[in-house]
Amino acid sequence: MRRLLLSNDDGVHAPGLKALHDALVPYARLRVVAPDRDRSGASNSLTLSRPLSLTPTHDGFYSVDGTPADCVYLGANGVWDETPDLVISGINHGGNLGDDVLYSGTVAAAMEGRNLGMTAIAMSLVGEHHFATAGRVAASLVGGLEQLSLPPRSLLNVNVPDLPWEEIKGFRVTRMGYRGPAERPIEARDPRGRVRYWIAPVGDNADDADDTDFAAVAQGYVSITPLQTDLTRHAARNDVQDWLDALT
Ligand code: MN
Repeated sequence: MRRLLLSNDDGVHAPGLKALHDALVPYARLRVVAPDRDRSGASNSLTLSRPLSLTPTHDGFYSVDGTPADCVYLGANGVWDETPDLVISGINHGGNLGDDVLYSGTVAAAMEGRNLGMTAIAMSLVGEHHFATAGRVAASLVGGLEQLSLPPRSLLNVNVPDLPWEEIKGFRVTRMGYRGPAERPIEARDPRGRVRYWIAPVGDNADDADDTDFAAVAQGYVSITPLQTDLTRHAARNDVQDWLDALT
């Protein structure tokens, strides 16, 4: 039986994590290690300034006072003798579409698994109702993984429309779209009259063309984007070299 490590960024008590666990428990041996609170937006951060505690919860999961990447690092890298062969993160409460991926703790947990040499999938529900649909998607992907061959240092980012299973139109392989700039910070006053700022909502879609993750989900398809961790802008290397040559 496959050994799966599950994690998330919404915290160990999030309904999406429970839904992922319940959908996969018939098919695999599961270990669940997740942050003790909502760490959405943590990206790939690791806790380096203090030790971490790993605490069993009443439902057999493990809670960590750290980030999603901390959880996968601990869960897959020597705390237990058995190493998982697959890491699945989620099911996130909300989509991780376009440049959300850069901020996402859900994607980061999967990426940490990938960095440790495992196959990794990030699962997100673009909404907050139909976690069972995303669970079924996760189960069908896990069932077919033997046949998947991904290049090294890559992972799958999966976004599921918030629809009943019967209304899902199918699966579509996509590329990341992107959003325009975020809205301006929202100014507020704390109870002592001091100015504080909230990070504002995301900007409008700037690229949601037909082959993007945004478009697939909007049209009722499960979006599957293969991601790589190499952020190098290869097409710009010559321009930067020319620029340097002219400087020196
Ligand atoms: Mn989240």
